[in-house]
Amino acid sequence: MNEYDSSKMVDMMCTERDMEQTKDPSEADLILLNTCSIREKPQEKVFSQLGRWKPLKNQNPELIIGVGGCVASQEGENIIKRAPYVDIVFGPQTLHRLPKLYDDAVKTRTPSIDTSFPKIEKFSSLPNAINVNPSAFVSIMEGCSKFCSFCVVPHTRGLEVSRPPEQILSEIKNLAERGVREINLLGQNVNAYRAKDMHGIKLRLADLLHLVADIDGVDRIRFTTSHPLQFTDDLISSFENRKLANYLHLPVQSGSDRILKLMERKHKIELYIDRIEKLRSIRPNISISSDFIVGFPGETDVDFEETIDLIKKIKFDQSFSFIFSPRPNTPAAEMIDDVPYKEKLRRLNELQALINQNANKISQSMIGSEQNVLVEKQSKKDHHQITGRTENNRWVNFDGPRDLIGSFVNLHITEALPNSLRARLVN
Ligand code: SAM
Ligand code: SF4
Repeated sequence: MNEYDSSKMVDMMCTERDMEQTKDPSEADLILLNTCSIREKPQEKVFSQLGRWKPLKNQNPELIIGVGGCVASQEGENIIKRAPYVDIVFGPQTLHRLPKLYDDAVKTRTPSIDTSFPKIEKFSSLPNAINVNPSAFVSIMEGCSKFCSFCVVPHTRGLEVSRPPEQILSEIKNLAERGVREINLLGQNVNAYRAKDMHGIKLRLADLLHLVADIDGVDRIRFTTSHPLQFTDDLISSFENRKLANYLHLPVQSGSDRILKLMERKHKIELYIDRIEKLRSIRPNISISSDFIVGFPGETDVDFEETIDLIKKIKFDQSFSFIFSPRPNTPAAEMIDDVPYKEKLRRLNELQALINQNANKISQSMIGSEQNVLVEKQSKKDHHQITGRTENNRWVNFDGPRDLIGSFVNLHITEALPNSLRARLVN
């Protein structure tokens, strides 16, 4: 989500203020830091990064420094108090106002701050992407209304708001005409997507997926993230369409009903297992990934063992797993954080080792198979090679001409490495 937002900031300043992007901060007129406050660690990094840029302001007093994203939304004016050399503070919902905030900061030389939540006007104000890759992100909704007890997102990004379907489809058509072949639909909970089209017909994510799949040039679709509660039957049936990648990220957080209740996830493990079993009746070998939080307040050995049992049952292929981090204004931050740090770390390592083991087994089982891969770029390590992703999200490196970038190819998988695969082109 932040990657998408950052690219939109670049598109906007280049289109509307004729700027050029540079990777060298010392030659910049404007430096923007897009921030994440989901856990404490990334939040603290914001201030150390700003501190590194402070001397640039002494060298070039005209330099404008802006902080966007969820830390900006959460901290607002406090950013300026802690780092008075910052000129602009804007939230995820006001990034479209960046050109105006920039003009104000230049004109008045006083801080411009806007971290409000204007309803969805953001998307109608954003320009088309300047640079496109074969695979592109497209945001379909913003915010979250689930209020899990540990999470800052509803506070920093606001409540769920869906983007009108016509706007989404027009953005995707534009991308497809420019050679994009894979679309990643984005939102904190994409399956909470609820919108009316111009004729007043109500659409949910499953309906939107059908419309996206009908667009010429779009050959692969992914979506992230989904909440198990709204992973409904209509969405499961969408997987009958082969354009949906054979991969699903469906975060469960914990395998213990007791912890899920404390997390206010509003469902039990049984529902999660039922959803995956139903999905696997349509796509038997679909890869499933999840987010997990370990060391949630009150998590016992038994609760953690239930998470391990769930991982063994579902055979997750990948995870984004974190130690619980107390976040401001969330109920879980008030709970007694009683699991010792050493034990949290032990649980995290055990969980990650098990999922890596599953992932390795899946990679090994792919050796000798044929995989349809969207070629995305030149390989980083070997410039004679090109690289793309399998449906189940594995990078594959192989010898081939660069003009294949942007096309789907069939590959024969020859080797499985810990973080990638090797292959040769079929025909
Ligand atoms: N909406 C998605 C869902 O419900 O699963 C998740 C979006 S959230 C931005 C991404 C992940 O960050 C969560 O799934 C959770 O695992 C992790 N996360 C959120 N708050 C956290 C906290 N306070 N401590 C540790 N991890 C956290
Ligand atoms: Fe955060 Fe996801 Fe829960 Fe929303 S559903 S509050 S984004 S973890």
